[in-house]
Amino acid sequence: MSNLYPTIGLEIHAELLTKSKVFCTCSAEFGGEPNSRCCPVCSGMPGTLPVLNHTAVEYIIRAGYVTNCEISRFTKWDRKNYFYPDLPKAYQISQMPRPVCLNGWVDIVANGQEKRIRVNRIHLEEDAGKLVHDEATRSSLADYNRCGIPLIEMVTEPDFHSAEEVIAYVEKIKLLYKYAGICDCKMEQGSLRCDVNISLAPKDSKELGTRAELKNLNSTKAIARAIEYEIYRQTEIIESGQKVLQETRRFSDSTGETTALRSKEDAHDYRYFPDPDIPPIIFTEEELAEIKAKLPEMPEQRKARYMSEYGIAETDADNIINDKDICDFFEDAIKVYNKPKAVANFILGEFMRRINLGEMSMDSLKFTAKDLARLIELGDTDKINKNNYKTIFVEMIGTGKTPDEVCDELDLWVKDDTSAVEAVIDKLIADNPKPVEQYRAGEQKVFGFFMGQANKALKGQATPNTIKAILEQKLKG
Ligand SMILES: [Zn+2]
Repeated sequence: MSNLYPTIGLEIHAELLTKSKVFCTCSAEFGGEPNSRCCPVCSGMPGTLPVLNHTAVEYIIRAGYVTNCEISRFTKWDRKNYFYPDLPKAYQISQMPRPVCLNGWVDIVANGQEKRIRVNRIHLEEDAGKLVHDEATRSSLADYNRCGIPLIEMVTEPDFHSAEEVIAYVEKIKLLYKYAGICDCKMEQGSLRCDVNISLAPKDSKELGTRAELKNLNSTKAIARAIEYEIYRQTEIIESGQKVLQETRRFSDSTGETTALRSKEDAHDYRYFPDPDIPPIIFTEEELAEIKAKLPEMPEQRKARYMSEYGIAETDADNIINDKDICDFFEDAIKVYNKPKAVANFILGEFMRRINLGEMSMDSLKFTAKDLARLIELGDTDKINKNNYKTIFVEMIGTGKTPDEVCDELDLWVKDDTSAVEAVIDKLIADNPKPVEQYRAGEQKVFGFFMGQANKALKGQATPNTIKAILEQKLKG
């Protein structure tokens, strides 16, 4: 067993959800025909002037508040110079010495342990374009739609010691950013990307080992695999008496391995200098207080409200807030049918079960929160038998029909027809003399058998209460 101990730091890049780009008015939406969302400013024409998008500034301040950062009262922008085909200006507008946010922290739970991760800084910059490498023609195509989309970069202290801790942190940041309304956090679309710095050293060592930087990991799975591989690779090197090189490495999803991209020797000198086109910002206390007041309700606040106002248990509240889309759906449903506990129970049960089975996803729901609220209301008010929830819900998932339409089509409404219930029960009693005898001899549990059989025969067209009353009366004989 190796006594080497991994130390990991993280950089998270998140694209902000502003309507337009950070220094021009082009759309910042994901996708679009290549190079259809560009103008002279974001495609780097000489002589053009950037104008700062103040919503992007507001959003990075939100990012700072939700991760307990200090907000700089004075902040400014710098040019980071490098040439690459995805960056037509040959410099990126970023922030070096005076980032907007500094010295924050985020609490996570990993492997059952609570832990505080320190945030070093968060700064605002512009995203670069995207290169598409076409193997067939052996050429590279440049799409500048992403050029100039506002990007925040958060840098943590090297406070992580396992892949589990890193994943827990990334998940927590995704949750915080989504609730703050500043990023959609779709890693598969690249709106949230991670760089991981990792080094190994003996557990009692005061100095850190030489680190490798893993670039642009775009799923939590890739992060975990890349860290595991890097721990293995660096352990092999150190234990065979060699030295780990300080380098930037790329992780391949298909091989599960990391390969060297560039070494410390070819590290760029970015020649940062203050951007002369964008004035620095000095925030007043009033401006910051106003931004803080506009922060949407965060997951912990929602959780506290669910527990105190709705009487929802802590684990249930956790399960609802842990997915913002589901949590918003819950909020919408209780606006229509104000029985939070009943709605929560349905969402935590059948609703999440169907998601986990892959039968539905929040991205492509065919029914609305109003439909779900209506379904639960119909059950609560005995308009339908709750045993039919599943049948109706499956129809709603597949067809997008309202619960009323499904009940009409499948004839699932409860009918106040006691004669039909009586007929079914009479037949059951006649067909099952032995259980009847058992019941009359005092075996209460056979009652459940009759309830089940009656329910089945009536296909949910009577409420359990009606069935129970008639059954009790008839079984007495
Ligand atoms: Zn533009």
